[in-house]
Amino acid sequence: MTLVASAPGRVNLIGEHTDYNRGLCLPLALPQRTTVTLTPRPDLLLRLTSAQEDEGWEGPVDERPRSWAAYVAGVVAVLRDDGLEVPGLDASVDSDVPLGAGLSSSAALECAVATGVAGLLGLDLEDPVVRRRLARACIRAETEYVGAPTGGMDQTVAMLGRPGHALLLDFDDDGVSPVGLPLEDAGLVLLVVDTRVRHTLTGGSYGDRRSECADAAAALGVASLREVSLADVDRLDDDILRRRARHIVTENARVRDSVVALEAGDWTALAALLDASHVSMRDDFDISCRELDLAVETARAAGALGARMTGGGFGGSAVGLVPNTTVDEVRRTVTAAFADAGLRLPAYLVAIPGGAARVDSVG
Ligand code: ADP
Ligand code: MG
Repeated sequence: MTLVASAPGRVNLIGEHTDYNRGLCLPLALPQRTTVTLTPRPDLLLRLTSAQEDEGWEGPVDERPRSWAAYVAGVVAVLRDDGLEVPGLDASVDSDVPLGAGLSSSAALECAVATGVAGLLGLDLEDPVVRRRLARACIRAETEYVGAPTGGMDQTVAMLGRPGHALLLDFDDDGVSPVGLPLEDAGLVLLVVDTRVRHTLTGGSYGDRRSECADAAAALGVASLREVSLADVDRLDDDILRRRARHIVTENARVRDSVVALEAGDWTALAALLDASHVSMRDDFDISCRELDLAVETARAAGALGARMTGGGFGGSAVGLVPNTTVDEVRRTVTAAFADAGLRLPAYLVAIPGGAARVDSVG
């Protein structure tokens, strides 16, 4: 028996670094997906290959690989720990989600594997409870097994995303609400600019932000920054902690305002929120970089209504809301600006909100 499953990358429209602060975010699933072909084995071995990696990996299910294979073996290990009788597997991976671009190739890989395993074991993927369980397993695989201290946004949208919609995720009460994103009707395109600066190459600053947020919450005597107001934030003496907390508090408000803007069809208001989010990430949260700032500023100057860096930061991608008549001009201008600055040229993709993880075929 061979089963093929796939899961999408994602782009976050707004709400950055809020997930691990019990906050709000508004991501959408991309049409770009990671596909895994699984064949169960009679033993408890994993044999893993990926079209994106030179080296495969082979070992028993309870061994911990130190390569990309940890994302796959981690999901298998966590699902086994969760009580599922996951067999040994031959797994081959392929993807058109760019790796390390802030578009969550990691969650796409985890969720494709989890969905494939669920399909092999006959779990009901129509059931949202099953999907949330798989998303939780993938979050655990990434944080506990791979050791990347990310929040839960990526896996949640990969398991629950909906075509034509973004998802409002609330990490305080685990709320998931689809929000319509009728870009085409509005003559707009969500243009993703991949700066090709790979955030994995630039150190462990993501974890630093996470601990700074925890420190700010502790200094204010609360369990999470979700509970604080701007007036509380102003009471923080430490300049760095105050700026980190201000980003989280204002970003949660911008996510809420973005949903209101989308529901009212007010794209101008949404665009202004994207711009403000970028400024907050650049100046308060300190997670932007020269290439992301250049992409955002140039896209705006060439006709994007609004733009921001997206994803964890320190490289990766920016996203802009662009009239479809101006997309070519924006691409040309951004590419020219990168060339002028002597930077590696960016790559582009258009974010059309796609569907969640699924079993594609069983044979
Ligand atoms: P992002 O999720 O933004 O793409 P991450 O650093 O979180 O960036 O995850 C990228 C890592 O995930 C890669 O370096 C690799 O280890 C693993 N990965 C993702 N997609 C694949 C794939 N198709 N094949 C092999 N490994 C992958
Ligand atoms: Mg990732």
